[in-house]
Amino acid sequence: MGMQGSGKGTQASFIRDNYGFKVITTGEIIRDEMARHTPLGNKVRELMNSGNLVSDDLAFSIVKSRINDKENFLLDGFPRTIKQAQMLDEDFDVGGVIVLDLDEKTAIKRLVGRQQCSNTKCNAIYGPSKQPKRKGLCDICSSPLMTREDDEPLAIKRRISLYNEQTLPIINYYKKKNLLHIVDGKKAINNVSDEIEGLFGNVIISAS
Ligand code: AMP
Repeated sequence: MGMQGSGKGTQASFIRDNYGFKVITTGEIIRDEMARHTPLGNKVRELMNSGNLVSDDLAFSIVKSRINDKENFLLDGFPRTIKQAQMLDEDFDVGGVIVLDLDEKTAIKRLVGRQQCSNTKCNAIYGPSKQPKRKGLCDICSSPLMTREDDEPLAIKRRISLYNEQTLPIINYYKKKNLLHIVDGKKAINNVSDEIEGLFGNVIISAS
């Protein structure tokens, strides 16, 4: 978990690559549906581009449809509301929750300068602290980089206010359950990864 721009996607890739965890990134799945103009993608396009959340039922059905029985997985971008956290608890054992802590000012600075690989199989993320070696091109797959539609100022503002209103209360929810690990998301990418590595042995989420 973490505010937009806190580095969830970057660190989720680190965990996938180093621990072989399946990563389910709800935002990426929805963006892929939009790029393929599927009925689901078309239905949520306007909502998503303006920085609003899709419904709890839809978000959870996306997560559930990606999970095979008994495999370990890491959720990136879910849950985002108390209701989603409760839905998750009903069907799965949550092993741990990592929160990347970041202040609003730094988040906005990162989001405004953020670019993402347009290749939906790659999705590498670049920003002020990680510039591509060749301007406008992905270091990994050489595809052109793009700016997300919801990384424009009005949508950023909306997303951050929804995070504060709807997602922040979940931190307390998991704190009470003793599942919470807070990592300073303001640190350099490698330092955040090191910290996550240090606690990762205890943070495993598995299907019940
Ligand atoms: P993200 O890439 O995580 O910032 O997600 C981008 C957008 O996808 C969000 O602004 C929402 O519109 C939608 N989305 C992703 N995950 C969820 C979720 N768990 N609940 C509701 N909407 C979501």
